[in-house]
Amino acid sequence: MKLSSRIQSLKPSATIAAAAKAKELKSKGVKVYEFTLGEPDFTTPQHIQDAAVAAMKAGHTHYTPSGGIPDLKQAICAAYERDHGLQYQPTEVLVSNGAKHSIHNLLTATCEPGDEVIIPTPYWVSYSALVELTGATPVMVETTEESGFSMNAEQFAAAITDKTRLMMLNNPCNPTGAAYSVEALKSIADVAVERGVLVMSDEIYEKLIYEGSEFRSMPTLRDGMREHTVIVSGVSKAYAMTGWRIGWAMGPADLIKAMDKLQSQETSNPCSISQYASIAALEGDQGCVEEMRKEFAARREYVLKRLNALPGISYAQPGGAFYAFFNVAKHFGRPLGGGKTVENSSDFCTALLEEAHVALVTGDAFGAPGYVRLSFATDMETIEAGFDRLEKFLTA
Ligand code: PMP
Ligand code: GLU
Repeated sequence: MKLSSRIQSLKPSATIAAAAKAKELKSKGVKVYEFTLGEPDFTTPQHIQDAAVAAMKAGHTHYTPSGGIPDLKQAICAAYERDHGLQYQPTEVLVSNGAKHSIHNLLTATCEPGDEVIIPTPYWVSYSALVELTGATPVMVETTEESGFSMNAEQFAAAITDKTRLMMLNNPCNPTGAAYSVEALKSIADVAVERGVLVMSDEIYEKLIYEGSEFRSMPTLRDGMREHTVIVSGVSKAYAMTGWRIGWAMGPADLIKAMDKLQSQETSNPCSISQYASIAALEGDQGCVEEMRKEFAARREYVLKRLNALPGISYAQPGGAFYAFFNVAKHFGRPLGGGKTVENSSDFCTALLEEAHVALVTGDAFGAPGYVRLSFATDMETIEAGFDRLEKFLTA
């Protein structure tokens, strides 16, 4: 079968592929210590599930407007007013089949061959892949462990050309956990407004912020930033709703309208039942969000303690999200675990899975050779046992 050149060059999602590899080993009866997917292990809170059942019983099982039901758009606007003091209108909101879908719609609506999209590196796997799918060119801006993996305003400014269409910022960041300081964000916002660059602000981990860090939504940073921002977010991470597939984009009404036009042709509406459940998530008691955050915070503490005790690794403290991103390059070129010598992060992850049955994701997938990502969105028992095995693998 002849496939289009864009599809031929598209890589499968490395996070999803790593999880599939771990599952394959599990299906052979092997106990695998799984730290691949960034997906909360908690069950979706009961009141949200109840709202979904009630929606089905009330007959909300039909197509909805392609860009989402008015009540959900209203609930999203109300949540941003409550949480960030931001005033958005439903015409400035598009509800999609997950934030990933909103990102795809945004890129497809704005980018074409010849355009450039600025991406601070390390970046979430799908950013570069979805930019390339439009024919535009990702322009990577390298950040360092020493800077806490934050891009600074000078780096951003230096990457802008007359071909720049967009800058994709993920704060807090997957895979590094970097939580930008308010000061750093303000300087980035200054550059965006002064140079007229649109920022996609992926704020999907906004509720998962740990002590010492503070979250600020991009449009709140200065006058004029609202017009230069498209917020992308969703219910997946904050409400443990990954499988429900509800995300959104918020930005200038004409752009949102164009993205809705695309969505009307490509997928129609996101699941009607999930939309009603998301209203319950956003309007209901937010205590469940804080409960889960506290559990993630406790796991993070434990993970950092264990990382500190591992030989030859380095990392920057994650201020948010649920990932630890650490450098294992010091272990390259020497025998590990069962005696295999690994030369890069991908080999490291393969050997670790095969010999210690611990599944991580290679930093290569995030544009960060030498690093590996560990998702601590899993239970404490697995984290403890996984670290015991990782430690043994590195020290044997
Ligand atoms: N952005 C980032 C940074 C993510 O880590 C994810 C994780 N899946 C998404 C967007 C997409 O989330 P979803 O499609 O589940 O809403
Ligand atoms: N965002 C999560 C991750 O990075 C889920 C998988 C995906 O969509 O890539 O693991």
